[in-house]
Amino acid sequence: MNLILLGPPGAGKGTQAVKIVEKYAVPHISTGDIFRKNIKEGTELGKKAQEYMNKGQLVPDDLVIEIATSRLLEEDCKAGFLLDGFPRTVYQAEKLDEFLSANGKKIDCVLDIAVDKDELKERLIGRRVCKSCGAGYHVKNMPPAKEGICDVCGGELYQRADDTEETVVNRISVYEAETMPLVDYYEKAGNIAHIDGAKDLDTVFAGIVSALGE
Ligand code: AMP
Repeated sequence: MNLILLGPPGAGKGTQAVKIVEKYAVPHISTGDIFRKNIKEGTELGKKAQEYMNKGQLVPDDLVIEIATSRLLEEDCKAGFLLDGFPRTVYQAEKLDEFLSANGKKIDCVLDIAVDKDELKERLIGRRVCKSCGAGYHVKNMPPAKEGICDVCGGELYQRADDTEETVVNRISVYEAETMPLVDYYEKAGNIAHIDGAKDLDTVFAGIVSALGE
């Protein structure tokens, strides 16, 4: 199954991705995670991406397309994949389609998770992530048992550099301007499922399972 998770920052794509990967046994490909890993390791790619990410801007298309398509060529993507945070522009979507059709593949379903703007801001600004295992928390809605410490592995929790209020507002406007047009793009392709992301985690996941089938 070849899947795309579409939706604004803070819609819960990362959280749902964990559940999708577990149930459908596909690798999770998050371009944001790939960039963050490179930033942590201090690579050239990380340095380039960081300039854009910290301002809430998109990393240039050609760079992202190169990263995503080379990842899709890896062995574990042969039987399917879950793209999270890619594509984010119509140009990226077109290039992805070209790449897939050259490799005899197509997207089976685009899961479009929608959440209201004010709710997104509140979710993102309060979000905290574990430095060691990547588990996600929220200061109000999903606090860890001990402040600042991961329940899963005891690691230290941090706020992503792009989850500050100013950057969040910018990321949401970038989403509306650059990424929302993808809803129409995939509507035309006829393979998009709309999921209400305002509901609780399990209800959202039930919506995904009903779109994809058991
Ligand atoms: P995410 O973790 O998906 O929210 O991505 C974090 C940041 O990485 C974004 O705000 C962008 O700066 C950058 N990024 C991730 N994926 C893409 C993409 N497909 N196109 C452009 N920039 C991206």
